[in-house]
Amino acid sequence: MNDEFKPDHTFGFHTRAIHAGARPEPSTGARAIPIYQTSSYVFEDPESAAAYFNLQEYGNTYSRIMNPTVASLEERLSNLDGGIGAVAFASGMAAQSAALFTLLTPGDHMVASSALYGGTVTQLKHLSRKLAVDLTFVDPDDLSAWRKALTDQTKILYAETIGNPAGNILDIEAVAVIAKDAGIPLMVDNTFATPYLCRPIEWGADIVVYSVTKFLGGHGTSIGGAVVDSGEFDWSNGNFPIVADPSPAYHELEFHETFGGYGYLMKLRAETLRDLGGAMSPFNAFLFLQGLETLPLRMDRHVGNALAVAKWLGERDDVSAVRHPAMNPKYCALVAKYLPKGAGAVFCFDLEGGREAGQDFIRGTRLFSHLANVGDAKSLIIHPASTTHRQLNDEELAAAGIGPGTIRLSIGIEDADDLIWDLEQGFARIGTQQ
Ligand SMILES: *Cc1c(COP(=O)(O)O)cnc(C)c1O
Repeated sequence: MNDEFKPDHTFGFHTRAIHAGARPEPSTGARAIPIYQTSSYVFEDPESAAAYFNLQEYGNTYSRIMNPTVASLEERLSNLDGGIGAVAFASGMAAQSAALFTLLTPGDHMVASSALYGGTVTQLKHLSRKLAVDLTFVDPDDLSAWRKALTDQTKILYAETIGNPAGNILDIEAVAVIAKDAGIPLMVDNTFATPYLCRPIEWGADIVVYSVTKFLGGHGTSIGGAVVDSGEFDWSNGNFPIVADPSPAYHELEFHETFGGYGYLMKLRAETLRDLGGAMSPFNAFLFLQGLETLPLRMDRHVGNALAVAKWLGERDDVSAVRHPAMNPKYCALVAKYLPKGAGAVFCFDLEGGREAGQDFIRGTRLFSHLANVGDAKSLIIHPASTTHRQLNDEELAAAGIGPGTIRLSIGIEDADDLIWDLEQGFARIGTQQ
């Protein structure tokens, strides 16, 4: 935003999705944010170079650590989410691992929802083994399970706003209270909701992580991730010497003492991003900025189309269940509280038939793209039992909440009538074995 805007005015979400983090480029007047396709930056003089490396002044040094195009995306995303800042990464996976790596040390414990994105479950198991961190999965709907899982070593609670495949809606405020009582942060993956549908920080979450690849980018063109910090967590409470004490990884800098609310974000960037190196490319940041401009328009349409398709599926005899959160009595109150604009556009439904019915159904659809992604403008379809969960037998599938005839949809922004027409072709194909 430029300086002529009245500082006492609060801008709405649509305006901020277009203007936050964006200024006309001063030397050329370019209105769109340029792609600063540069690895490094010329220092003005030796003193300012030294100040940047000492973190005494904030300035560009090298694009693994920061880049002006990426910085615009970070500022816009943090603004939309109500955070104090953000750090972007090369992927959602890179953002999550960096967010956790910054806080965890051997002997620590973390508690995570059992209804997470499959890649995250694998990542948490792998990361905890490598870092010698204990990991407990809990049913995210069971508040007493979160509390019971806590130990003196627990450092993080981790969950998703909208889980998968059952469409669990997290009671963010209640789990945030449990985290607060324990003096530890609640980290929430808000990828399926986006800041347009839900802002976890407003409900007490401390750190929000995103796969920007999905709805935020919105067009299935690029891989990216981000960590947004509320700035509210007190890292000097005794539980996080890793943020509060002098850091041997940054010439004994005390991140919390020096940067206050920005301590965690500075450590995430200056140490973890520096050392693990999963930086977002400026070109991808540019594409994500274009995506964010239309986020609210797209999300309204994703949500409306998804509900229309889910209701149509719910009326069919050959569908045994539609697992859309807004249609599940268990989650209605939580949807009304946390997701009043809609419960996203990714959901599963179960075909009466088994694996063969699922595969036939996929063969019958044409407009839906058969692939392993979510959050594209295009509608996407996958049959987990023959793809992402292929290695599992029926019992293991059941434990993951997936039936042999479960189909997952990510509903795009086409015409709902056309999506329903396409799904009809899928139903017509069942039993034809071709
Ligand atoms: C896709 C996804 C991720 C991983 O993000 P990538 O950008 O693919 O690395 C994490 N969490 C959720 C909920 C996702 O959908």
